[in-house]
Amino acid sequence: MEKICVAVRVRPPICHENSSSNFWGVDDNQISLHKLHGSPISGVSYTFDHVFDENCSNSDIYELLTKDIIHAAVDGFNGTAFAYGQTSSGKTFTMNGSSNDPGIIHRAVNDIFQKINMISDREFLIRVSYMEIYNEEINDLFAVENQKLQIHENLERGIFVAGLREEIVNNAEQVMKLLESGEVNRHFGETNMNARSSRSHTIFRVVIESKGKDTGSFGDYSSSDAIRVSVLNLVDLAGSERIAKTGTGGVRLKEGKYINKSLMVLGNVINKLSDSAKRRAHIPYRDSKLTRILQPALGGNAKTSIICTVAPEEIHIEETKGTLLFASRAKRVTNCAQVNEVLTDAALLKRQKLEIEELRWKLQGSHAEVLEQEILKLRNDMLKYELEREKLEMELEKERRSHKERDQYIRDQLMMIENLSSLVSDGDGSSSQGSMKESPTEECHNRGDDFKTPCFKAAPKAFVAKRSNYSQLPDFSPLPDSFSDVADEDTWFKINKGYIADLDSLQTTPARKVQSFPPEDVTPNYLNKKYKKELQNLKRRLELVTEEKNELQRKLAEDIEVKDRLKGDISKLKQEALLAREMPQRLCGSVTSFKDTYEEVLSKMQRYTFDGKSSTAKLLRCISEIGSILFSTMETSISNTTDRHKLSSENDSLIQEYNKMLSEKLKSTITSLILSETASSEDKQTKTPCSCNFEVVAWSRYHVSILVLFFVMILGYFVPFFRTLIF
Ligand code: ADP
Ligand code: MG
Repeated sequence: MEKICVAVRVRPPICHENSSSNFWGVDDNQISLHKLHGSPISGVSYTFDHVFDENCSNSDIYELLTKDIIHAAVDGFNGTAFAYGQTSSGKTFTMNGSSNDPGIIHRAVNDIFQKINMISDREFLIRVSYMEIYNEEINDLFAVENQKLQIHENLERGIFVAGLREEIVNNAEQVMKLLESGEVNRHFGETNMNARSSRSHTIFRVVIESKGKDTGSFGDYSSSDAIRVSVLNLVDLAGSERIAKTGTGGVRLKEGKYINKSLMVLGNVINKLSDSAKRRAHIPYRDSKLTRILQPALGGNAKTSIICTVAPEEIHIEETKGTLLFASRAKRVTNCAQVNEVLTDAALLKRQKLEIEELRWKLQGSHAEVLEQEILKLRNDMLKYELEREKLEMELEKERRSHKERDQYIRDQLMMIENLSSLVSDGDGSSSQGSMKESPTEECHNRGDDFKTPCFKAAPKAFVAKRSNYSQLPDFSPLPDSFSDVADEDTWFKINKGYIADLDSLQTTPARKVQSFPPEDVTPNYLNKKYKKELQNLKRRLELVTEEKNELQRKLAEDIEVKDRLKGDISKLKQEALLAREMPQRLCGSVTSFKDTYEEVLSKMQRYTFDGKSSTAKLLRCISEIGSILFSTMETSISNTTDRHKLSSENDSLIQEYNKMLSEKLKSTITSLILSETASSEDKQTKTPCSCNFEVVAWSRYHVSILVLFFVMILGYFVPFFRTLIF
């Protein structure tokens, strides 16, 4: 058991930030917060394995912190070195360095080849790969087409990224070229704090296989013929960032959230590992891809060093404190590193050995350089076949698992249907339920055997000579949960304020793979998609229903408006109808008063017709009679309208009779008027000396008759008019 080696590096102040003050004092392996130009602030002081001030170089860091791990990797120990810290604190500078001061990766690669060249009694095979974790997706930096790679774990290889391109290399220059080409594919972006901010975590991985040269002759392998296989991870993490400071939005904001979330998971893993009481509890490695890949380096079979980079400026004090807290907890984490020796075909080197020896034998006498080139080419070809085989194997495994899970799913559904039908029917459901309860596990085993992949390679018990107990973990890695719902500021505080999450409350991945990997049709991704789709459909339906509701509301409002308008019209019509109903009574009143006036006028006129026998008197009588007929007609008509129930053909015939009488009376009156006029003109001729009285009478008779006729015509006109008006 050995502790993780933790160091802190303070980068030089950046001139455009406030460089006047230096708040962090470095004294030997201690770093403390100082008052401006003053003494240290008590309680804010941390001690680590090493503390590097701003004047130190990458060379110093490599020598003191990383070199041992690299050498141990060559000797067969897994090793990991990673840089942790806020954005712009110097992580990439530490790992990659500059042309004047090469970083840890560059130095490590050189060192590996130097060291293996010095070891004459062992044969080495070096493979390198370069990946980035960008927005929780693993991308191959050596082959851009290899995106969204998955993490797997099996007995032979431990935890590995499936489908990741590995290149066999035999010198440092070759690695540098590959790294340069990989660097081009890496995600960088500009933020307020760093013009070239790493937006992803990168892992440069070196697999070192070695075998003693003095083993038996060609083709003769004994049990002592062990191959050492070690994995070295050199990790440049993306920095935790506070969106308020980095000023990122859009894509950068999304990246920032992923970065912060995965760093928070890393912090949680470290917290849990650093707490000895919790050590035996569940460690949430699977909550992020970063921690899952680095699992052996964090509390497992590896030698690990962490370089925590901090910025000295006052504005970064909070972040620096957060980084130092992380470093303090990491210091308490213990690993258990062992040399990894394998005895079977798991080591590529062993399988290649035969081929190489054969080739050497065949090419004896040719130029050594050509031979080496040929060997390298063959090795690479073989590696490619190896990857191909691995991919196929994984696909087969995936297929097998999905079959199994689908089968389980179908059985669950069947059971549900069975349960439901037994609930519905009152028959012998209980007994069938009982049998169903017992069957699944049994069936599962049987079906499991049906789909079992034939063993490709025998795995004897002595297969792994020295492999950590982590190889007992299930041979798959479920996808971590969605990262998109992380409140960034919140996460930042959790990372930097020394927040120790209640890890048991975190979403943890189930321990058994059967639960973790549902059938292909119901994988979390599939379910997510399905639920999202359903949600979208529901939303769309809700929108349609809302639209319909709005439309109905609009129509209702229109209807109410029309109804109000109609109500107004109806009340107006009612008023008019009331008026119309009152009209006959009013007319009746008017006719009565008119009749009275008429009778009064006639009686007054009759008083001037001395004896009552004159033609004028006759005329007036006639007029009186006509008038009374007219008024009677009018009164009958009006009374008909006031009481419609009484309206009958009888009344109609009465009116017609009145009309008839009226026309006869008019005719007789006009005839008598003409006769009297003729008589008066004859009298005038015989009695030439005319008296003044006769002239007056004749004149008045003439005018009165015209007036009466006019009056009668008006009345004759009004009677039908009243009738039409009333009916
Ligand atoms: P990070 O990777 O932590 O976001 P970088 O490594 O990109 O930060 O560093 C930010 C800037 O600071 C870069 O321009 C880098 O050259 C500079 N820098 C960081 N550390 C040092 C150092 N120790 N010496 C000189 N320059 C440094
Ligand atoms: Mg960086």
